Amino acid sequence: MAARVLVSDDLSPEAVRILTDAGLEVDVKVGLPPAELEAIVGAYDALAVRSATKVTAKLLEKAVRLRVVGRAGVGVDNVDLDAATRRGVVVMNTPGGSSITVAELALAMVMSLYRHVPGATASVKAGKWEKKRFQGREIAGKTLGVVGIGNIGSVLVDRAIAMKMRVIAYDPFITPEAAAKLGASLVELETLWREADVVSLHVPLTEQTRHLVRAETLARMKKGAILVNCARGGIVDERAVAESLAAGHLGGVALDVYEKEPPAPGHPLFALDNVVCTPHIGASTEEAQSAVAVAVAEQLVSYLRDGVVKNAVNVPGLPKEVLDQLAPYLPLAERLGSVAAQLAPAGPTEVAVEVSGELSAVPMRPLAARALVGLLRHFLDTPVNEVNAPSIAKERGIHVREVRSAEPHDWASLVTISVRGQGGETVVAGTVYGKREARIVRVNGFRVEAVPEGHVIVVENDDTPGVVGNLGTALAAAGVNIARISLSRLDDRSGAFSFLNVDSAPAGEVLERLRGLPHVRSVRALRL
Ligand code: NAD
Repeated sequence: MAARVLVSDDLSPEAVRILTDAGLEVDVKVGLPPAELEAIVGAYDALAVRSATKVTAKLLEKAVRLRVVGRAGVGVDNVDLDAATRRGVVVMNTPGGSSITVAELALAMVMSLYRHVPGATASVKAGKWEKKRFQGREIAGKTLGVVGIGNIGSVLVDRAIAMKMRVIAYDPFITPEAAAKLGASLVELETLWREADVVSLHVPLTEQTRHLVRAETLARMKKGAILVNCARGGIVDERAVAESLAAGHLGGVALDVYEKEPPAPGHPLFALDNVVCTPHIGASTEEAQSAVAVAVAEQLVSYLRDGVVKNAVNVPGLPKEVLDQLAPYLPLAERLGSVAAQLAPAGPTEVAVEVSGELSAVPMRPLAARALVGLLRHFLDTPVNEVNAPSIAKERGIHVREVRSAEPHDWASLVTISVRGQGGETVVAGTVYGKREARIVRVNGFRVEAVPEGHVIVVENDDTPGVVGNLGTALAAAGVNIARISLSRLDDRSGAFSFLNVDSAPAGEVLERLRGLPHVRSVRALRL
């Protein structure tokens, strides 16, 4: 059945189309009073909101099917995150949706300062014609120092390079290779202050970045350098900036954000030339409003269809490159967990998720969580997803181990799930061919090549002629069509194994008949 999405705030027709085109069942019901929303929310798997819908604990209680809330925008003050996390509901926002818009404002700020656009406008409007006073500077060939090359900083790097600027950047949480890919040279902060003609700030406001630009750092900047802050008020000590500007050291400053918003009249910067100010409009463009709606729709589709969690605010986030690498393996991990759960003789006490080969270089927590989802779903009635699976496992005393090994083997990457319980150990391993072709390659001691989907019958038998023929005949007689079959046997021929993908669920009597066939040791039906 298609997942159902409720759009309860005004997104955009394009965003709604992305959801419907992905085969989701979408209802747009904007502006419902809370009681009406509570009455219908139980029918939906996903909720798409901006800031108007209040996703309260009470609403979440009624949302029995809900797996994800998508917020088009950055702030999630309208969502009760604790309640959502407790209920295993992923909450996502769209931090990258306004990156182009903010980066363009930063660039506009630089141009405005270099060409005195605001001052020249005021002068002409006042009836003056001051051509000499407004002689400017070109930005081509100047050095731009970007502090923080995340979503916004990296777009600015790209645009600045197009404007023929030399770009240096400081960001302690990014590798020089990643910065170089963007076209920026990663430098120490000291070098950035010393070499930049233009400093543009794109970091969050944290304990480390509060008053990052203050008297002593301003003193290290080039004489005549300009400063742009379209990030957060508080990163810049505005008083120190005003003093540096008044003393003729700093060449200009542009602010979209302030220590206090709105800034008090008579702010020391407002009486000075070469100051450009905007009222925190960094993200305010039509395109950005639409982009966040599209982004949230795409994220909901990725989550509901492929289980890929992007920009979640209540599970640890991962960089896009990591997610891209992990994406094909996430459904595989869930299927392996599911196979292991269905083959394990009893409930698990220990689960080991092992990743080897190329994928071992990537953070594996999301894979382990997905394996647990596949596994626990078979044991529990409560909804399980990657948000609550690790804590449910812990609560149930299931010890989870994550193991990585770079060990080479026949596949680029291999994911192995070992489930230990009272009845012994069950081991299932799989890989992905190309971008999406998931395969199970090992079930306990047997090497197979099986597609982990749909209805499956697994059979253990003696390695002797005729068994597979008998299985086929018995299934044909019961009207069960075999879609694929993967056969395997132990090296010493002490046992054989068949993994049969069938087109319909075999009835209990059919399975009993298979169990009664000569040389058949065990038969299990799996649903993947
Ligand atoms: P982001 O999280 O994608 O990027 C922030 C970058 O800063 C990251 O790469 C991080 O590694 C880096 N960083 C963190 N601490 C650092 C430090 N001490 N020194 C150097 N780098 C550091 O964020 P983003 O979406 O690019 O947003 C950047 C800033 O812009 C944020 O402060 C955000 O709140 C602000 N913002 C402003 C507006 C506006 O209306 N003006 C709109 C959106 C975002």
